[in-house]
Amino acid sequence: MSWFKRDKSTGAPVVPGNGERKVRTEGLWQKCEGCRQIIWKKDLEVNASVCPKCGHHFRIDAVARLRMLLDGEIEFYDRDLVSADPLGFVDSKPYDERLAAMQQSTGLSDAVVSAAGLLDGRRVQICAMDIRFIGGSMGCVVGEKITRAIERAIAERSPLIVISASGGARMQEGAVSLMQMAKISAGLMRLDEARLPYISVLTDPTTGGVTASFAMLGDLNIAEPGALIGFAGPRVIEQTIRQKLPEGFQRSEFLLKHGMLDAVVPRPEMKPYLSQALKFFLG
Ligand SMILES: [Zn+2]
Repeated sequence: MSWFKRDKSTGAPVVPGNGERKVRTEGLWQKCEGCRQIIWKKDLEVNASVCPKCGHHFRIDAVARLRMLLDGEIEFYDRDLVSADPLGFVDSKPYDERLAAMQQSTGLSDAVVSAAGLLDGRRVQICAMDIRFIGGSMGCVVGEKITRAIERAIAERSPLIVISASGGARMQEGAVSLMQMAKISAGLMRLDEARLPYISVLTDPTTGGVTASFAMLGDLNIAEPGALIGFAGPRVIEQTIRQKLPEGFQRSEFLLKHGMLDAVVPRPEMKPYLSQALKFFLG
């Protein structure tokens, strides 16, 4: 038995004598993983989900990212493309059930959203990965959607931008997911032959087969500050080479220092940066 009345559907406390008004104590504040301070969510929203106190970049979903970069209307593509579960894979639960649950909770068909629109008045083909969908893993749908985006870019002579956020290949699709690395890479070669620019934006985290293929194949490879970027995890590497890894290993700034990235760009500056870069490539 509770000391106060709760709203039946949400569980939120109800102010006595006023059934309409609910006391909202949660959901307004967020603890920053960077500086451990409590931030007002509104402050976070107006600052592109970057902590106003320490600059920590919170993870954001694919559609929010597209909204941040495109001028106005977003044209979405291939929204109904879903995996056919080629292996009939079962781990802790059947893959088709896992997919259905993910589709339900995220409202997405798979781990990438592909779209087109104007970026500072210039038409671009753009794909954004969503880490919420099975860890942003790359299976046949991600491979097909990015390949189709490349083909559209070639057909309409637009530049291509891909924003990665991924745990790597999708193990539930086995070799089929690994084939996507070759498929997308071959597509990117055709884009290069058509002399159209491809900009890869790496966000936290970008790992495994995504790093090992299209995320590192940009004419420009740029990352958000503090993003985890690598192929294998640090523990696996330490065990393999039997050495302690240096401080900041596999973070954007470390990779920039060692020549693996072209730039580290804070999220609020990402759109003007991309606009400048495309101007440089295309005039
Ligand atoms: Zn912070």
